[in-house]
Amino acid sequence: ALTVKDVTKSFGAQPVLRGVDLEVASGALAAVLGPSGCGKTTLLRVVAGFEQPDSGSVTVGGRQVTGPGRAVAPERRRVAVVPQEGALFPHLTVAENVAFGLPRRARRGARVGELLELVGLAGYGDRMPSQLSGGQQQRVAVARALAPAPDVVLLDEPFSALDAALRAAVRADVRAALHAAGATAVLVTHDQEEALSTADVVAVMRDGVVVQSGLPQDVYRYPKDVDVARFVGEAV
Ligand code: ATP
Repeated sequence: ALTVKDVTKSFGAQPVLRGVDLEVASGALAAVLGPSGCGKTTLLRVVAGFEQPDSGSVTVGGRQVTGPGRAVAPERRRVAVVPQEGALFPHLTVAENVAFGLPRRARRGARVGELLELVGLAGYGDRMPSQLSGGQQQRVAVARALAPAPDVVLLDEPFSALDAALRAAVRADVRAALHAAGATAVLVTHDQEEALSTADVVAVMRDGVVVQSGLPQDVYRYPKDVDVARFVGEAV
């Protein structure tokens, strides 16, 4: 599970997060939706530990990783990040890329094959990343993120570089892989359709706060205000 409580963050004089609250149950996939510049990426960076917030707290799997006087290092948070694109080491094979996420002694075992199977790429281990499509590369990035069995997986617009037809298939498979792995996940997107169709819960951000969160159908049917309605309503 992931809990973000009243997190604030300014860059210089510019407040970017102004009291973000977000609760994601264990094993659930949450989509954080909102217009460009509302603070989505900054929120993920705070959860991952790449940015220290000015105030507030972050709890991962029951353990507080950020809070007053507390800043657990990113690599010790049990949080994995899947970036937009370009996540793979180009000079390593697919299997080596996935193994990179494993502890050294586990790298030669069956785990790599299991992870590749989980993302629908069984048998691709010996290929180089350049021999894969963009969608396949993102699947490998997800397999590598899942390798150390993190509590929380953060995905920052992971499908935005893919064309529309491919995107739907990749996100369905990634969603299934995250669920099969039992990971709690946060997907950042500004694609309403993607958020509503992929996530278990949706959080709508605006100007550095979560203005509404809940089940996708509830946010869609009962938007809290005109702005949320306009924003999620563009989905259809
Ligand atoms: P997008 O959908 O366009 O990626 P976003 O919702 O992810 O946007 P952020 O990337 O979190 O938004 O950025 C929010 C604001 O914070 C922007 O105005 C950005 O310029 C500013 N910002 C982000 N990181 C920094 C930084 N390291 N230093 C200064 N300003 C920053």
